[in-house]
Amino acid sequence: MFKGFPIIDLHTHLRNDIPRHTKIARENGIDVIVYMANCNPFLDSLEKIKRSLKEKRYCKAIPVAAITKGLEGKELVKIDKIKHYVAGFSDDGRYLKNLNLLKEILEKGVLVLAHCSPSYEVGIKKPYLETNFVERYLNVLKKVDGKLHIQHISQKTTVDLIRGAKKSGIKLTCETCPHYFTYTKKDLSVKINPPLGEKEDILAIKEGLSDGTIDVIASDYAPLPRKTGIAGFRSFIPLSYGLVLEGVLSEKQLREKLYFNPQKIIEGGGYKLKL
Ligand SMILES: [Zn+2]
Repeated sequence: MFKGFPIIDLHTHLRNDIPRHTKIARENGIDVIVYMANCNPFLDSLEKIKRSLKEKRYCKAIPVAAITKGLEGKELVKIDKIKHYVAGFSDDGRYLKNLNLLKEILEKGVLVLAHCSPSYEVGIKKPYLETNFVERYLNVLKKVDGKLHIQHISQKTTVDLIRGAKKSGIKLTCETCPHYFTYTKKDLSVKINPPLGEKEDILAIKEGLSDGTIDVIASDYAPLPRKTGIAGFRSFIPLSYGLVLEGVLSEKQLREKLYFNPQKIIEGGGYKLKL
């Protein structure tokens, strides 16, 4: 609990050690974490999800199911069977190439969490990779009344795109992570996806948080060695609270980004979050 409200981290990776990582989350003041499907094994069937839910945890930890079997982007998982046990569906770093599958799952009314940037090149100019991907998803969302949440946006062009989409009445939500409003690529040379940006990206992310374009701050926690430790539970609350000290967000707004909005997003997808 933090100043009287629980902290929800909407984007984490626990791999194959739920007890250890939930303990670190708890020690750092995080009450609820939502973990992605790329555990070991991948969470792509009800049986695997139930097994994952039986593992010991030190804070509330809600799984996200894969959208497709084996995260391969080919065949949808059994959505109706699985949906009551998970916060939502995501293929995370293995973004969904097949937009027909995205449309199909959005039509089910479940929460879909979409990675904003593929982990490999697909013939799109690098500086705009993220924004282009979000645009692809938005084009699908225009045609269906689904629940789409875009994960960890990092670029000014993406903030501008989402702001415009929201103004035009498209319903979607999005998140950023503390490293995207704290460091430029000149500050830290780390390999991370999406990559750190420039000063103008940091400014745009802060503006997006402040004007409500960006709904949520999430950590994208991933156990070492994958991410060099930049996306962590330890810095999650201090760096987020830094936005209040800096005057970017009010305390009320921070509460929205860390509790109220993530809760609304999870419950909007049909999951009952008992806190
Ligand atoms: Zn992730």
